[in-house]
Amino acid sequence: MALLPILEFPDPRLRTKAAPVTVFDTELEQLVSNMFETMYEAPGVGLAATQVDVHRQVLVMDMSEERSESHVLINPRILEKSGEQVYQEGCLSFPGIYADVERALRVKVAAQRVDGTPFELDVEGPLAVCIQHEMDHLVGKVFVDYLSPLKRSLLLKRMEKKRRQSA
Ligand SMILES: [Zn+2]
Repeated sequence: MALLPILEFPDPRLRTKAAPVTVFDTELEQLVSNMFETMYEAPGVGLAATQVDVHRQVLVMDMSEERSESHVLINPRILEKSGEQVYQEGCLSFPGIYADVERALRVKVAAQRVDGTPFELDVEGPLAVCIQHEMDHLVGKVFVDYLSPLKRSLLLKRMEKKRRQSA
């Protein structure tokens, strides 16, 4: 396994649209295990392949405290969504900043496992937020896109300041 470098905003590669996965091979398995290692090490609760500069529709998540509920979604698509919730989101591509984003409360998603087996996932609450956030990455969208221009520029300034302090 290996840690992968995570792209940070405003890297233009974060705007890339990921292509569907068509080959389910050991290279894909390797990518998924490297993504988990990178996400756990960061630490984060979700990671899209886009964030590690691999533009294929792959995402990994684990929102459990014990790091025991891992999910891999290949070629995910939303079948149904309902309700709404506001949740404070962060992102490994935006170190140190958090913002409230409104999203669907519940989502039903169709995806494939790492071996290509199709499955469906019906979730609500924080995991539904995470899925929607990570799926956005696969189409080149990031969570600050949902904020007002003023809120967004304040947050990005704060992120820059933190980046300079830690440099
Ligand atoms: Zn993110």
